Amino acid sequence: MTMKSFHPESLMMSYGYKPELSEGAVKCPIFQTSTFVFKNAREGKDFFELAYGKREKSPGEQPGLIYSRLNNPDLQILEERLSLWDGADECAVFESGMSAISTVLLEFLRPGDALLYSMPVYGGTDHFINKVLPQYGIKGIGFTTSDSEEDVLKKAEGHRVKLVYVETPANPTNALFDLALCKKIADQLAKDSGEVPLVVDNTYMGPLWQHPLKHGADLVMYSATKYIGGHSDLIAGAVLGKSDLMKRVRTLRTFLGNMAGPWTGWLLMRSLETLKVRMNQQAKNAAKVADFLASHPKVEKVYYLGHLKEGDPQYTIFKKQLSSAGAMVSFDIKGGEEEAFQFLDNLKLFKLAVSLGSTESLAEHPATMTHSDVSEEDRNLLGISEKLVRLSIGVEHHEDLIWDIQTALEKV
Ligand SMILES: *Cc1c(COP(=O)(O)O)cnc(C)c1O
Repeated sequence: MTMKSFHPESLMMSYGYKPELSEGAVKCPIFQTSTFVFKNAREGKDFFELAYGKREKSPGEQPGLIYSRLNNPDLQILEERLSLWDGADECAVFESGMSAISTVLLEFLRPGDALLYSMPVYGGTDHFINKVLPQYGIKGIGFTTSDSEEDVLKKAEGHRVKLVYVETPANPTNALFDLALCKKIADQLAKDSGEVPLVVDNTYMGPLWQHPLKHGADLVMYSATKYIGGHSDLIAGAVLGKSDLMKRVRTLRTFLGNMAGPWTGWLLMRSLETLKVRMNQQAKNAAKVADFLASHPKVEKVYYLGHLKEGDPQYTIFKKQLSSAGAMVSFDIKGGEEEAFQFLDNLKLFKLAVSLGSTESLAEHPATMTHSDVSEEDRNLLGISEKLVRLSIGVEHHEDLIWDIQTALEKV
C-alpha cells in the first residue's frame, strides 16, 4: 500500500510533513517567518526561476521556499492535505472565503464579460457579483432551480459568458443544482466564448460529503472558516482544481497578497485531523433535529436534504451528488419576524450568531442578517422570508439541542 492509497482521514496527521526537517517534532511547527535563507546565491536564482515560471520543474523538484507571500511550509502542507479530500491536483489557501471567491472571479473575468450564477448565493458573494463586479464592467446573470437548461441558455444570449458560478446546496434554503447539467451549459457556452470554467462553492458540504470536481467542476472553493476550520476561531478560504487553472489562481494570489498566514495554516491542519468525526457527528445530530422540527405544530416547513422524497427532482440530484444530508437545517416558523425573533431570543444552548459548520450549534435569521443585502425581489423569489430561521448543527448531545429548540418554541 502506498501512502496515497490510505483514506484522507488516515493521512491528516502526517501527510506532506517530514519530521527530520524539523528536529523530529511529531507535529509540523508554526513557521512564523516572513522570509527564508538560501544556501547560496545559485539556489536563490534557481528558486526564483521556478517561482516566476522562467523554467519548468525538473522531475520530483519541490518549489524552494522564498518568502511567505509566495509559499510557507504551513500553507504548503495544508494545501497538500486539503487536496486529498477532493482528489484535486492542487490547492491554494486564502485569508478568507471571500478572498478565495473574489480572486477566482477577478482572474477569469474581464470588462465586457458576464458570469452565470446560481441563486441564492452567500450574501457576500451576492454583493461582490452585483455591487462590485459591475464597477469593472462585468455583469452577473442569475438562475434558479426552476430554470431549465433552455431558460439558462436564453438568459445568457447576447452576453459573453466567461464563467459559471454555482453554490449547491444553496445557502440558506438547501436548494440543489445539478452540477453535470451546469457543466453541460458551460461547455455549450464555451463554443461561443472560448474557455468557460464551472466553479463551485462547496462550503456547505465539503470537503466530505460532495466532491464537485468529480461531477464536472473545474474549480471548487471553500470558506474554510466553516467546516474545515470547524471551531469558530479563524477566517480562511481555499480553492482547488486542476494544475493549469490553479497556476493562474495562485499567481493572482501572489500579487493580491491575500494568502493565509502561517498561524491560520497551522490551526487549519489541526482542524483537519478531526474533520471527519466532527462532520459526521454534526450530520447525525442534524437528522434528529430536523425530524423533531418537522413534527412540531409551530413549524410550517423544514428545509433539510434528508427529508427530500423520491420523485422530487431535487431528490434525484441529492442521490447523485451528495453522500450525506449535511448539518444545515432551516425552517419556516408559523408567523413572521416577531415569532422568529422570539424563538431566537429564547435559545439557551444554540448561539445566536451567523456562520456555520462549527462544533457549537448556531442559529440566525437570514432575511435580516446574512441575506439582508439581497434585494427584496430576490429574497421573495428564493423563499428567504421573514419566517425563515437557519440552524447550523454542532457536536453537542442531540437531546440537549432538541430540548433547547422545544423550550424556545414554547415561548413563542
Ligand atoms: C461564509 C461563506 C462564504 C464567505 O467566507 P468567509 O470565510 O466568511 O470570507 C462564502 N460562501 C459560503 C457558502 C459561506 O457560507
